[in-house]
Amino acid sequence: MAEYVDLHCHSTASDGTLPPAEVVRLARQSGLSGLALTDHDTIGGVEEAAAEAGRLGVTFLAGIEISCEYPPPGTMHILGYGVDPKSETLRDLTRRLLEGRDNRNPRIIQKLNELGVSITMREVEQEAKATAGENKKPIGRPHIAAVLLRKGYVSSIKQAFDKYLAQGGAAYFDKERLTMREAMDLIRQSGGMPVLAHPVQLRTENDAQLERVVKDLVDLGLVGLEVIHSDHDASLVEKHIKLADRYRLLKTGGSDFHGTNKKDISLGTANGRRIPREFMDALLKRHAELRRAG
Ligand code: AMP
Ligand code: ZN
Ligand code: FE
Ligand code: FE
Repeated sequence: MAEYVDLHCHSTASDGTLPPAEVVRLARQSGLSGLALTDHDTIGGVEEAAAEAGRLGVTFLAGIEISCEYPPPGTMHILGYGVDPKSETLRDLTRRLLEGRDNRNPRIIQKLNELGVSITMREVEQEAKATAGENKKPIGRPHIAAVLLRKGYVSSIKQAFDKYLAQGGAAYFDKERLTMREAMDLIRQSGGMPVLAHPVQLRTENDAQLERVVKDLVDLGLVGLEVIHSDHDASLVEKHIKLADRYRLLKTGGSDFHGTNKKDISLGTANGRRIPREFMDALLKRHAELRRAG
């Protein structure tokens, strides 16, 4: 019987609403045989998820999702699969990414206050259930959006983004981002395999431009392309499969599940499509090869 996996999802370690172990339990209940956790800017959920996956017999792969500098209106996210939790490079990287958020979030709050919205950083931290110190977690706009929703300033998370938090919104601030070269290098130095997430979000103007971006990333060591994603309809999936094959990239896929922060996304399903187990096996095989090669 065909087996399915999900290689892109978020837990409470970043801006998802289910704790890591519960994401794994949901994967099992949804009939998935494998899972990669890809929280933004942190591997804080990986240990808990891996332990639960071990108990339930779900194949697990550690991951992280990093945002890079990229011209608006596009966004570039790079997934790092198989990063080594013990890597010093990875620790430095996640610390730096958190600092970028610490610089940005108070500015968003201040701007919201100036717009007459009553919200404090403390409320946002409580929403994220963030603790200081070693287990500090990335606080993101979805946490701010959840507070705005709870306090009745908006009627949905989406409206919070459209009105305030998205690029072009009234309280938008960008965070300091890595260049794509830095993101690629640091993921590789952390023992991970860089994969371009949801290429549609690059918002490239045409296929030739998309291909140039992918080629640049391949020159920097890109290992795979996320061909299946909740934002990809059938024609995009097909287009990205062809592109991946042309550059001999591994194909990956995931739902980008965030729990109730993205209500219409179910774990294991991306725009009505499931993700074949073969995608995960190919990633695991490549990871083993790269490790052997040192
Ligand atoms: P941040 O990490 O603070 O930059 O926030 C990024 C998160 O916000 C990602 O999980 C996105 O999926 C989510 N996000 C970005 N734009 C929107 C939007 N228009 N509606 C809902 N969620 C969004
Ligand atoms: Zn997110
Ligand atoms: Fe993303
Ligand atoms: Fe994501």
